[in-house]
Amino acid sequence: MSNPVVIIGGGLAGLACARVLREQGIEVLVLECDESIGGRVKTDSFEGFQLDRGFQVFLPAYPEAKRILDYEALNLRTFYPGALIRSGGRFHRLGDPWRRPFDAIVGALSPIGTLGDKLRVGRLRLRLARTTLEEIHRRPETTTLRALRQEGFSEAMIEQFFRPFLGGVFLEHELNTTSRKFEFAFKMFAEGGTAVPASGMAAIPKQLASSIGSRFIRTSCKVKALNQGTVVLDSGEEVRAQAIVVATDADEAWRLCGRRQVATWNASTCLYFAAEEPPVDQPVLVLDGERSGPVNNLVVLDQVASTYAPPGRSLVSVTVLGVPKANDKDLSDAVRSQLEAWFGIQVRAWKLLRIYRISKALPTQLPGAAAQDTRLRPGLYACGDHLDTASIQGAFLSGRRAAESVISDL
Ligand SMILES: Cc1cc2nc3c(=O)[nH]c(=O)nc-3n(C[C@H](O)[C@H](O)[C@H](O)COP(=O)(O)OP(=O)(O)OC[C@H]3O[C@@H](n4cnc5c(N)ncnc54)[C@H](O)[C@@H]3O)c2cc1C
Repeated sequence: MSNPVVIIGGGLAGLACARVLREQGIEVLVLECDESIGGRVKTDSFEGFQLDRGFQVFLPAYPEAKRILDYEALNLRTFYPGALIRSGGRFHRLGDPWRRPFDAIVGALSPIGTLGDKLRVGRLRLRLARTTLEEIHRRPETTTLRALRQEGFSEAMIEQFFRPFLGGVFLEHELNTTSRKFEFAFKMFAEGGTAVPASGMAAIPKQLASSIGSRFIRTSCKVKALNQGTVVLDSGEEVRAQAIVVATDADEAWRLCGRRQVATWNASTCLYFAAEEPPVDQPVLVLDGERSGPVNNLVVLDQVASTYAPPGRSLVSVTVLGVPKANDKDLSDAVRSQLEAWFGIQVRAWKLLRIYRISKALPTQLPGAAAQDTRLRPGLYACGDHLDTASIQGAFLSGRRAAESVISDL
């Protein structure tokens, strides 16, 4: 038997790469340092709740996901197509006019943005419907904030809707992220909506892993170094490879490949609360259009998928951008005080379940960054969300590209 293609990292990119190679009958070995696969997409079970490690959503329009995932088996539960925006001491609904025409008529009268803004959303949507993802990747780029202003959106629309909404997608408030990622995300949200698998986001890597086969995956196996076609593990074991794919996060990838490159990251913090009653009785994303406290967005997850909470309880997921220095108590007190103004004193009775502070959540993607190839040199390849649009789609696609480079070189 020939040496396997060794894939370092069992996140979405590494798993997608392994799957494409296995489809061609190529021997692979995925080495994952953590005790479970999934990388940044994991779900913990806690007191009957399903806690994704950081609030994340799956966009069913992702083309590469359509190719490699079985959506029916994921049992996707969908969000309301639009958002509830807290502004001026009230909640305002902004619906997607294509999916909920009636809500859009009501929304047209809401004070979030002008009528012109709503027409601009429609115009942007039409343009992006006619633009492929490949074309978006080649378009001139600027920051998202500049792109929104160039589209003519009012400052009120940007502050009340785009800043919290896209801030939650990019995990940064300044909207410095490249306009290409904005167009990519806008197109994906518009074309397929938003969902989570009924059994939590970890169902995505689990499904991929089971399509690859457990004998091709080793967990609790940290790679220390690469040495001329050999992968050296922390334990000292050496694994010979016919090709090596580095599918770790950017920092670890460049360390292993001996490059003096450092990644910068966008961070986020997710607080989960258990409530006796859902503070919002709809599967809708709630945005802070006031910037009145640490909370950027909130979702009552059992309203999206009842499986996220045990019977009779509710799971509130709260996202704060960045990783605040405050300790858990001070942070959750600040969150509660903001949310008490939204939902009243019921918030005091919520039980804090867990806080996830994720300092390396998404690689920063600014305009003008040079595109990097998945082939580093013959025999050595890289994949990961840092090499494409930082997202589930980007991780999957970079995995496919690395696999295709391996296949063509072999
Ligand atoms: C809080 C948060 C919210 C997000 N929200 C969304 C969202 O809503 N929609 C969306 O599409 N995307 C979202 N993302 C992004 C998405 O989760 C990532 O883009 C994607 O999971 C990255 O996958 P990856 O395989 O490139 O990297 P990773 O998931 O980082 O995988 C790398 C793997 O390599 C392993 N590894 C590292 N070093 C070694 C080593 N030396 N030896 C062996 N193994 C090693 C790691 O343990 C890890 O498993 C979010 C991410 C976070 C964290």
